[in-house]
Amino acid sequence: SVPLSFFGGIGGASKIGVLVKGSNYLEALAEVDTVVFDKTGTLTSGTFSVTGIHPQDGTSAEELLALAAHAEAFSDHPIAVSIKQAYTGRIDQADVEDAREESGHGVVATVQGRTVCVGNAKLMAAHGITCDACELTGTILHVAADGRYLGHIVIADTVKDDAASAIRDLHAAGVERCVMLTGDRAEVAQAVARELGIDEVEAQLLPQDKVGKVEELLDTARGNLAFVGDGINDAPVLTRADVGIAMGAMGSDAAIEAADVVLMDDKPSNIARAVRLARRTMAIVW
Ligand code: ADP
Ligand code: MG
Repeated sequence: SVPLSFFGGIGGASKIGVLVKGSNYLEALAEVDTVVFDKTGTLTSGTFSVTGIHPQDGTSAEELLALAAHAEAFSDHPIAVSIKQAYTGRIDQADVEDAREESGHGVVATVQGRTVCVGNAKLMAAHGITCDACELTGTILHVAADGRYLGHIVIADTVKDDAASAIRDLHAAGVERCVMLTGDRAEVAQAVARELGIDEVEAQLLPQDKVGKVEELLDTARGNLAFVGDGINDAPVLTRADVGIAMGAMGSDAAIEAADVVLMDDKPSNIARAVRLARRTMAIVW
C-alpha cells in the first residue's frame, strides 16, 4: 500500500505547479544529485528574435527570410516558430512540398520547386554546402537553395527569469552537478552556462548524442539523475533518466507523455522546490 504522506507530497507538488506521476518518482526525486538540462525552451524562453540577416551576393534580406520561413512552414521547433513570426509576409503552404525535419540539424523542403535547406553548419555539411559565418554570439541559421549557399540569419534567445535562481537553489539543496546539453553552437552554450552558473556544458549534440551523454553521467552519478527538457527532440533522453522532467506549458505532447514529472508553468526554479518537498515527504514516510 502507498503511505498516505505520499499523497500529501504529490498534492503539495501539484500546488506549486509540479505534476508528479507516481509516488515512485517522488521517492526518486528525493535522491537526485545530478540535474541535466536541455537549453532551448528549458533554460531559455525558446522565443528567438532575429538579430541579423546576412544574405550573400544576389539574394536580398527579404528573400532570405521568406525562404527560411517557407521551409519551416510545417515545423513546430521553437526556431521555426520564431522565424515564421519574424517574417511579416504571407506563407503559402501550397508553395511548400516534401518538408522534412532533420532532428538536431534543421529542415529541408521544396519551396516553389527549389530544394531549400535551413539549419546549422552540420546540416550544410551533410548536404555538401560550404558555409561561413564568423558571428561570435547567437544561434545561426544557414540558408541554401539547390545546393547554393544564400547566407545566414542570426537569432537570439533569452534565458528564463528564474533560470539562474533555479541552478542556485539546486546547488543550495545539495545537488552536486547541474549539466546543460544542447544542439546549439558552443559559443551560445558557454555564454548561457556562464550566466547561469551551470557546472558542465556540452554543445553541438544531436538528440542521440544527448542519450549517450546522459548514460555516461548515469554511470558516475552517486544518486539519481534528472533530465529536464521541453521534448522537442529530447523525448528519448527523458525516458532514459531516473527522473524525466518536462515543460508542461510550452513543451510537446510527446514530452509530457514521456516524462515522470511535469512543470506546469515551465519554471525551472520549481525543480529545487520539488526536490525539497520530495525529501520532506520521504522523511515522513521513513
Ligand atoms: P537544443 O539542444 O538547444 O534544445 P535542438 O536539439 O532542438 O536544440 O536543435 C539543435 C540545433 O539544430 C539548433 O540549435 C539549430 O541549429 C538546429 N535546428 C533544429 N531544428 C531546427 C529547425 N526547425 N530549423 C532550423 N534549425 C534547426
Ligand atoms: Mg530542445
